[in-house]
Amino acid sequence: TSPLSDRLLAMTEPATIAMVKKARELMAKGIDVINLSFGEPDFQTPQYIKDAAKQALDDGYTFYTPVPGIPELRQVICEKFKRDNQLDFQPNQIVVSTGAKQALANAVLSLVNPGDEVIVFSPYWVSYEEMVKLAEGVTVTLRGTLANEYKVTAAQLEAAITPRTKLVMYSSPCNPTGAVFSREELGAIAEVLARYPQVYALADEIYEYINFVGEHASLAHFAEVADRVITVNGFSKGYAMTGWRLGYLAARPDIAAACEKMQSQITSGTCSITQRAGVAALRGGRASADEMVAAYRRRRDLVLGIVKDIPGFKTPTPSGAFYIFPEVSAYFGRTAPDGSTINNALDLAMFLLNDARVSAVSGDAFGAPECIRFSTAAADEKLVEAFGRIKASLAKL
Ligand code: PLP
Repeated sequence: TSPLSDRLLAMTEPATIAMVKKARELMAKGIDVINLSFGEPDFQTPQYIKDAAKQALDDGYTFYTPVPGIPELRQVICEKFKRDNQLDFQPNQIVVSTGAKQALANAVLSLVNPGDEVIVFSPYWVSYEEMVKLAEGVTVTLRGTLANEYKVTAAQLEAAITPRTKLVMYSSPCNPTGAVFSREELGAIAEVLARYPQVYALADEIYEYINFVGEHASLAHFAEVADRVITVNGFSKGYAMTGWRLGYLAARPDIAAACEKMQSQITSGTCSITQRAGVAALRGGRASADEMVAAYRRRRDLVLGIVKDIPGFKTPTPSGAFYIFPEVSAYFGRTAPDGSTINNALDLAMFLLNDARVSAVSGDAFGAPECIRFSTAAADEKLVEAFGRIKASLAKL
């Protein structure tokens, strides 16, 4: 018998494992694989943020920090919410964490009891379902139509709420689809939630700055539900700071205090140097992000221009983030040149890795087993090369 806990054994390995292993094998053989499977900006962190981190070291910021974050950072996060989102928070409503990932986990573990239902809008970010499992909750997934970029409607949400529903989770802009909820859409969702006072919402806004439609709406904006919304954001995507591990949430003071308590027994306050860098990042506003977004938009358009000529790819136009997420089921059941059958998105992703030497992630990981996710956070020439190869490989099926 395994010495490992049931909790651990219940966690699934990401659908990406086999892909990554195979990609590594090919690369070790000297084969040039274009990696479009990562969910991270290919940009360096802006220099002014790096400078602040160096300064923090020189200034001696090497000690434990308060669990919910240093006061300066909680304060500038409040200012950020005011400036960007017209939301009023006090520092005691902010909990700074080791990445948005920990902020999400803090919230799920603080709110969800065994057996509670958590409605997750699908396709969803890989970790949501596993966090719910860790909390022994029950994930209920909801999906909108492809024509509506898979966005869940208020009516769908209302139909799925039961007396056991505790939490609703989504990301906007969405990883993996790039869909962005409009203010009207979130308003309709808020109207539904207003009728169910036992239901909370976890709004993951980590891709806020990477938005091609201009409007970023927050569920917390709607007064009737504001005190039941936990808003999560961070620095990884907008400031190209994935490795620094800095994220945060904003919530009602008692929920923020609960998340602080959860974090206090697991990791304590996040890195002192990173937090000083975060203060500088937010004080610098979003100018550096806007430059990166111009590149992400150009690449999105570049890639969409190529994939529109790939038969069998049904690709919604992403409004934000840096992925494309085509529906690829037209290829299921086809035969590869080696005689094997492409049964599903995992097979197709593996075929593309072997034949086109491009690595991507099967939609299974996101709750959408008929799709594949490609990152567009790569240099223009690489993207042109990658999607050219993909097109040529698919033509063999
Ligand atoms: N939420 C979504 C939707 C993400 O895509 C990611 C990172 O990939 C995260 C949260 C976690 O971000 P962080 O690096 O801040 O932990």
